Amino acid sequence: MIEFQAVTKRYDDGTVAVDSLDLAIDDGQITVFVGPSGCGKTTSLRMINRMIDATSGSILLDGMDVRAQHPALLRRGIGYVIQHAGLFPHRTVLDNVATVPVLTGASRRAARRRAAELLETVGLPAELGRRYPAQLSGGQQQRVGVARALAADPPVLLMDEPFSAVDPVVRDDLQDELLRLQSELDKTIVFVTHDIDEAIKLGDKVAVLRVGGRLAQYDTPAALLAKPIDDFVSSFVGRDRGYRALGFLSAHGIPVGPVASVPVGSPVEQARGLLDNGWAVVVDAENRPLGWVSDRALSTVDEVRAEDLISGGSLYQVDAESAGTAGSLRNALDSALSSPAALGIAVDANGAVVGGVTADTVLRALADARRSGEVPT
Ligand code: ADP
Ligand code: MG
Repeated sequence: MIEFQAVTKRYDDGTVAVDSLDLAIDDGQITVFVGPSGCGKTTSLRMINRMIDATSGSILLDGMDVRAQHPALLRRGIGYVIQHAGLFPHRTVLDNVATVPVLTGASRRAARRRAAELLETVGLPAELGRRYPAQLSGGQQQRVGVARALAADPPVLLMDEPFSAVDPVVRDDLQDELLRLQSELDKTIVFVTHDIDEAIKLGDKVAVLRVGGRLAQYDTPAALLAKPIDDFVSSFVGRDRGYRALGFLSAHGIPVGPVASVPVGSPVEQARGLLDNGWAVVVDAENRPLGWVSDRALSTVDEVRAEDLISGGSLYQVDAESAGTAGSLRNALDSALSSPAALGIAVDANGAVVGGVTADTVLRALADARRSGEVPT
């Protein structure tokens, strides 16, 4: 565990970057520091590996004050990833990743072998190892930065806006990749960002800082969205927070009703008899949804053909046995709202239709959960 105890950093010019920060960071989890520019995120992060020393207070790593440890030894157990990856431009990608193991006494050969494995771990093809950093895209460079930080297999990883300089689509991939990696590695990750959406996506816990280096709120993403502590946090967490909070509630247990369905290729007469309220979902031989037909659309054709369908809305997954695989209330509501028939389609793990929900059903389930105290109101 990493523990900040009344940590303050006052720079020589008098700027108080971090003001009496108290925070306990859990092992094996992603803790995100988020806040506007200049609120002390980088300073807080760098005090953990002693690139910056605190003015007062202490930071304990597994119960030991970091200031009692030799910086070089301390940093051996702490990987560090920064915005522009910080790679050595005149070393190959493979040698960039192998740097730390070589420094700590591994043979060049063993270090390169390990580096090649790490490239694969972060989703890069082995051939890229022979290139120089400038010959990679921004997203690829960031992956190399992560691989390099993992090379000494440190239990702790500090990441300072590592994905801020890449475009949104690549950023999304890198975030997914980090979550996948973390599910295998269980590192203690402290991740800094100014992007609240990134914080909510990645964080097991999120610390919201305000300018002046003061902690505003430290909570799970769900709690931050549901119960921001004050106006600053509420405005920082932003628009649509009520809707986004539904993303943390499981759709497991929402009553799924019947939905009229028609096998693709059915003759029109048969299909007409199957409509419910003028609509039916069209399914393939495995009962997977292909789209919708309506009363009106059927009046111009002889049979229900795949190319004539009205495209469906989003789907959401349910599994009668396991809550773990169910989509969220947000998925279920979106499914209902985006459906041309106003009926969201629930599918099982194989993508087969299980039934349908209306937006009313989803909102009623939410109201019930609130009444029974399962959800903060
Ligand atoms: P963030 O990472 O949240 O943008 P920083 O930790 O970099 O914030 O900076 C926090 C505050 O400390 C800012 O006001 C910044 O200008 C100031 N600061 C950062 N580094 C120094 C320094 N070396 N000397 C003086 N002030 C600094
Ligand atoms: Mg910063």
